[in-house]
Amino acid sequence: MSRPRIVIVGAGFAGYRTARTLARMSRNKADITLLNPTDYFLYLPLLPQVAVGILEPRRVAVSLSGTLPGVRLVLGEAHGLDMDARRVRYTDPEGGEGTLAYDRLVLAVGSVNKLLPIPGVAEHAHGFRGLPEALYLRDHVARQMELAATEDDRDRCAARCTFVVVGAGYTGTEVAAHGKMYTDAQVRGHPLPQGLRPRWLLLDVASRVLPEMDERLSRTADRALRQRGVEVRMGTSVKEATHDGVLLTDGEFLPTRTLVWCVGVRPDPLVESTGQPLERGRLVVDPYLQVPGRPEVFACGDAAAVPDLDQPGKYTPMTAQHAWRQGRVAAVNVAASLGVCARHPYRHRNLGFVVDLGGARAAADPFGVPLSGPVAGAVTRGYHLAAMPGNRVRVAADWLLNAVLPRQAVQLGLVRSWSVPLDTASPELARTPGRPERETGAGGRSGAGEGSGAGGGSGAGGERSEPVHEGITEIIDNTEKAQLAGAEPPPHPADRELADSRPPEPGPATSRPGEPAPDHPGGEPARNQPGAEPARNQPGGEPARNQPGGEPARNQPGGEPARNQPAPERPAQSPGTEPGRVPHEHHPAPGPVRREDIPAEGDT
Ligand SMILES: Cc1cc2nc3c(=O)[nH]c(=O)nc-3n(C[C@H](O)[C@H](O)[C@H](O)COP(=O)(O)OP(=O)(O)OC[C@H]3O[C@@H](n4cnc5c(N)ncnc54)[C@H](O)[C@@H]3O)c2cc1C
Repeated sequence: MSRPRIVIVGAGFAGYRTARTLARMSRNKADITLLNPTDYFLYLPLLPQVAVGILEPRRVAVSLSGTLPGVRLVLGEAHGLDMDARRVRYTDPEGGEGTLAYDRLVLAVGSVNKLLPIPGVAEHAHGFRGLPEALYLRDHVARQMELAATEDDRDRCAARCTFVVVGAGYTGTEVAAHGKMYTDAQVRGHPLPQGLRPRWLLLDVASRVLPEMDERLSRTADRALRQRGVEVRMGTSVKEATHDGVLLTDGEFLPTRTLVWCVGVRPDPLVESTGQPLERGRLVVDPYLQVPGRPEVFACGDAAAVPDLDQPGKYTPMTAQHAWRQGRVAAVNVAASLGVCARHPYRHRNLGFVVDLGGARAAADPFGVPLSGPVAGAVTRGYHLAAMPGNRVRVAADWLLNAVLPRQAVQLGLVRSWSVPLDTASPELARTPGRPERETGAGGRSGAGEGSGAGGGSGAGGERSEPVHEGITEIIDNTEKAQLAGAEPPPHPADRELADSRPPEPGPATSRPGEPAPDHPGGEPARNQPGAEPARNQPGGEPARNQPGGEPARNQPGGEPARNQPAPERPAQSPGTEPGRVPHEHHPAPGPVRREDIPAEGDT
């Protein structure tokens, strides 16, 4: 038999670990292909630190090819699965189409921002699910503070320095805690007019912050936030977002230009296209992480509804701790399905959580022992360093520099408001003119299929979603580690007919169970939001005058008009291009360089 082809879709916590474990187990006896839109694994728990300038973005982006020897990386986004023909269709970063044939498939596509049907939110809020959103927020907050400092009108100044975060799960809590420190540091040297202070509000319909976590952690976080001056408003959410601010459910209107949406996530819409049973939008799998009726297909992480064997009838929550562990079990069970070893069911063992509250403060409960203050801070940072699969020295160096030097509050303006829409199936990628975009899926606006994931609080909708986050980062399971060591875009391109018809092998026997326009949250006019009327001067819709710094849009990265772009790339059959690759006719914007790996047998 030729080498089995294993395709892993998604290189987040689950997919990365599946690939790493399989590479170690297979010892080059299998073709392992990892399909991911970016060439890095994103360590999401440290994203709030990127948004406030503690960490540079590349610190939380771990190179896939640099850390996964024996794994072939294909850059692209899957947009269709043909489970009968065992093919994955994908679009590369430049719009080219390809297919990957597999004998075993692991779906680990994670989740995207959850939207709720609240008027104005899709247009005026920004999510917090990927690097582009974190970079946008960092620039936006710095810009609002700088503009507030020169604002003559007191009300406009107050609106600029009011920041509203919705969702008091770990993402929203960390963003608000870090954000307040960030803006306080900015005004220390340059006080705002008329004695105004930056104002951060954290809202949630839940009765306490970190509603999914142990109450002791919740109290620690609540205390730290209030001491820092964050206005914690539980039992309150957003009724409507407008150009001028947000209307709260208690009737108060808050003038603001910033609405950060951390109410949670929903599974990546790709899983809907499988046609397989879903549980609240997640692909149903058995305890061996196999899709019932499709023993050659595995799923794990946020995108999969994995039965919680410790709580019968429930599914494991959407957290990094589960995704990371499920990735290992998926790899072992893929190997088992190829006759290498025995398979194992996935079982959860909670070792505790950590929440970084900025400065030396954190809330943690390793092995159920509640910690707060600097001890928790040290445990939290130690945990993150140990848990990251790479870049540890770089992260530690940034922390050290941040401890002794003032933070750099400069905005580069590289990520525009319109390029990070809340409603997107690809939060890991900034929208660029001409890049095809995946459908956001039916569940988008309704929030169907959601978890409160991504540290989402119960957010804005009023109804708490399930499955819910249990909390924050897991404490490292050293035993497990040791075992492992041993072991405005154009429409989406039309789907292409699949060429290669290599017959599938029988599956294994398994069980089946500028200056922003005034008065807009986000600092940019609603008409410039994706989905609204495009501005005439810029692809993607943002007018040049609204760029920070006033620089014309054509000179902005990502904002260049099509006529100034490099000539379209040659079609696919150029040397080094994957054979059989479908050429794309038009490249209005440059994209990342395509890797030119040798295709595995059966790929097109
Ligand atoms: C800001 C933030 C902080 C968080 N902090 C914590 C924390 O402290 N502790 C904790 O336990 N959890 C935390 N979480 C939640 C945790 O990050 C997720 O539960 C976890 O990332 C899920 O892992 P995953 O592998 O399923 O998905 P992800 O890590 O999201 O990875 C999915 C991967 O699939 C790729 N992908 C998506 N669609 C496609 C496609 N169509 N084709 C190819 N590739 C695709 C994505 O680019 C990505 O690389 C946090 C989340 C956020 C957003």
